[in-house]
This record gives sequence, C-alpha cells and structure tokens, in this order.
Amino acid sequence: MSKKTSGKVYLVGAGPGEPGLLTLRAAAVLQRADVVLHDALVGPGVMALIPDGAEVVDVGKRSGDHAVSQGEINERLVRHAREGKAVVRLKGGDPFVFGRGGEEAEALADAGIEFEVVPGVTSAVAVPAYAGIPVTHRDMASAFQVITGHAADDTQHGIDWGAVARAPGTKVVLMCVERIASVAEGLVAGGMPPTTPAAVIRSGTTASQEVLVSTLGKVGADVKRQGLSAPALAVIGDVVRLRGKLDWWSRRPLSGQRVAVTRTREQASGLAQRLGDLGAEVLEVPTIRIERPSAIDPLLEAVLGIGEYDWLVFTSANGVTAFLDVFLKAFNDLRSLGNVRIAAVGPATAARVKERGLAVDVMPERYVAKEVAKALAEHETVENLRYLLLRAESANPDLPALLEEMGGIVDDVACYRTVPEEGGTAAAAALMESGADWLTFTSSSTVDNFHRRMDLPSFLARHPGTRIASIGPETSKALHLLGIKPTVEARRHDIDGLLEALVAAAPEGR
Ligand code: SAH
Repeated sequence: MSKKTSGKVYLVGAGPGEPGLLTLRAAAVLQRADVVLHDALVGPGVMALIPDGAEVVDVGKRSGDHAVSQGEINERLVRHAREGKAVVRLKGGDPFVFGRGGEEAEALADAGIEFEVVPGVTSAVAVPAYAGIPVTHRDMASAFQVITGHAADDTQHGIDWGAVARAPGTKVVLMCVERIASVAEGLVAGGMPPTTPAAVIRSGTTASQEVLVSTLGKVGADVKRQGLSAPALAVIGDVVRLRGKLDWWSRRPLSGQRVAVTRTREQASGLAQRLGDLGAEVLEVPTIRIERPSAIDPLLEAVLGIGEYDWLVFTSANGVTAFLDVFLKAFNDLRSLGNVRIAAVGPATAARVKERGLAVDVMPERYVAKEVAKALAEHETVENLRYLLLRAESANPDLPALLEEMGGIVDDVACYRTVPEEGGTAAAAALMESGADWLTFTSSSTVDNFHRRMDLPSFLARHPGTRIASIGPETSKALHLLGIKPTVEARRHDIDGLLEALVAAAPEGR
C-alpha cells in the first residue's frame, strides 16, 4: 500500500459575502483546513467559520509595500501541499470567474499536486439578485454576459465594447467601479441607447450593500457623485427596471445590519437563524461555554435529597438542562421528583422546563430578586418552606438572601458554570477587523468574557457607532460596570424581546 505524503489543495469559492451563500461542500472542506489562504473579498461571516488551529494567510492584502504576487501564491499552495497539509484557497464568489483560479489550478497540475475545485456562488448573478435584479427574464433578456471592466482603458488588450454592445441580453461588468464611465461610453459608442437602465451595486449580499440605479448616459457621473468604491459591479439592461418591484432585500427589517452574537455556540445558532430571517448579516462570536460546576458534590447531594424540597427554582434554560441531566442519571425517572413545585424565571427557562416534560407552577417574568421572591410568596407563604435554587456557579446572592429573610430554607446549588470560550479565534479576529452594527449581549457573562477577550471600551473606540443590545437589567448592569450604556435593553428578557428591540431601533427606509 502506498503511503500518502502529499496534501491537497481545495480551490474554494466563498460566495459573494453573505455566509449563508457558502456551499455545503465549501463549509465541509473549510472545517478540515490546515492552512487557509484567502482574498480580501472573503466576508467576515465566512472567515468566522475557519476552524481553530488553522493557519490563516491573507494573500489579498498588501504585505509590506507589494501585493502578494500570483507567482508567490502559487508557490505557497504547492509548498503547503507538499508539507502534507489540507490547503484551502478561499476566493470571493466563484474561483474560476475572474478569480485566477484557473492559473492556480494549472500551477498545481504542473507540480503534480492533487486538487479539487469547489465552485462558489458568483457575485455576477447573486449580487444582482440581492438587489432585486434577475439577470435574465423571458420578456427582457434571454442572455447575459459577464465582462471584466478591468481592461476598459487598455486599448491593446482591451475588450471590444462595440461587440459587447451589439450582443443581446444583460451585461454584468465586474471590477468596473473606477472605469464605469469609460465602460458606459464604449457601450453607447457601440450603439446602446444612453437611456439604457444601469445599476451599480457595492458590497452586494452583505450588510453594507448599496445600490445605485441610473442609465448608461449618467452612470459615470452618478457613481462619482455618490463616491461608490470597490467591490462593486454594474448590471446593464432592461432587467434593472424590475428592481422597483422585486427589491426584496430592503424590505426585511434588519437588512443592512451586521449583528454579532456572543452567546455560547450551542445557543447562538437559534438566535443567528432568527436574525438571518429578519435580514441581518450575522457574525457568531461565542464568548462563553457551559461546563459542569467546579464542585459537583453539592448538586449530587441535592439531587439525592430531592424529596426534602418544596420548590425547585430555575433561573436559566442552561440550569434546567444541567440539573435534569444529572437528575435523570441518578433516578432514570422524572416521577422521582415527587410533588415538588417548580418556578422558572422568564419564558425561555419555562420553555425549557416544559420541553423536558414538566409543568411550571410559577413563572416570574424578570430575573430581579425582589420580583422572583414576590411571585413565590404570592403562590405560597415562604416561611419554613425548602427551596432548591439551581443556578450558575457564582450567581448573584440577592435571591437566596431575600428568601432566607422571608423565612425560607434555601440551598443555592451551582449546576453549571460559564467559562470563557477560548476557541473561535477566526470569528473574534473577523469581528475585531470589520466591526459590527450591533453587539448583542444575552447575559452578564457574555459581557464580561467579551470584555476579557476584546476589551469592550477599546473595541468601541476602534469601531465608533457600534450599537449595543442588552437582554435585560443584569446584562445592562455588567455593561454599566464597564462604563458603557447599552443602546437598547429588551423589554422582554428573552430572545423575542431582544429581536423586537433590534427591529424597533433599525433605521427606517434605506
Ligand atoms: N470570483 C469572483 C469575482 C472576482 S473579481 C466572483 O465570482 O464573484 C472581483 C470583482 O467581483 C469585484 O471587483 C466586483 O466587481 C465583484 N464582486 C465580488 N463580490 C462582490 C460584492 N459582494 N458586491 C459587488 N461586487 C462584487
């Protein structure tokens, strides 16, 4: 059997920016990458998916005073593969559409390196689609051309814009922002009416998407006036008119907002999905992880003595899961809980209790010690009753103190602990680099650990204008301790409340 010593290179399309447009194959090979060489065009949401431990090389950036040349990139690909590594060459859009992927594949073939091409969603089609412009339409365009605007000023190797103008269908011009005026002139000289609709779209599919609608005659001046910069592409043809009716992007409440999600990886996906459905570009930067408490004995003792308690009090969904996992390991049967009453603070906690097949007797809306104690007292006089509080390690002491003052007998038991997430380095770097419109904090520990990792005040100094959404008073308190006032605090202290607050604060009519 021959032993494989050589690695493999994956030429991967990262799509136009929005991480949801990354293909399943791209996500899978990215997960296994040892080295990732990426372009400047790859969006932060995709960068965030790079696994911990992978070496990340930005070959789009100018290093020192010279850009990393194509020759150097080819050499690096070959070298890393010969070291036996899984190498991902990550490129914006599709690797073979104006991405020089063809040249890289040739270099690999010449060097005898195994490679695979993972096509990507090209900006040529996806970016117009996000602007509400279909590149073909039965009544308007039965063909589309994708052309580079890069060579527009180069008369020797230039494109025959007359021939482009005469060909039927929509024209999509990439790399054109500086040369849009000469491209438009060439097309008009080639016979296209100056009244032909033309749109220029910048940073399509991302939260920074900008769309300018004009005509061939005016587009050069309009782009200059608006100061549109790269990356942008132009769409020219009658299909541009459809945008008036088909602009679905601007209609979503959170389009144009990049939102960072800081809760645990397990919890992030639910929130991320709902934010995505509302149109936000989501960056998952987990700051915390849930682990067993440092001392498990008090929890085991409480579980084994469960019959002594009158009340179980849960203050978080994590607490419910952590407690029941241990409880069921010990008893294998929910009926062993007996007649104990259950309090769940907040709708998310209550939902988790119900998910696990138990009813909730009291649900105080907010996690404020006074309100929780009051709700419990309204249900049943506290005096001489036994309460088992199932909370996080080092939780706020107010609630047990208050219940004891009221004559209750309280065991405050840690059933999980929140520890800083050390992984997710690519996501943290992407956030640090590109910032976000919103940072969302769903607990005081997300605040503390974000701060520990990224220094919140200096993050805000580096990215002024970042807005902060807090899920409730405890989380806001942690922000205040850092001298930061949240832009919004959710009125309901759950994910629905947080989403409502973000939608209410979104700018109207982009
Ligand atoms: N391989 C890429 C294209 C690389 S050329 C693809 O298939 O999409 C780079 C050009 O792509 C940019 O100059 C711009 O014209 C276009 N482009 C890439 N991403 C874009 C985006 N999000 N919005 C607008 N144009 C984009």
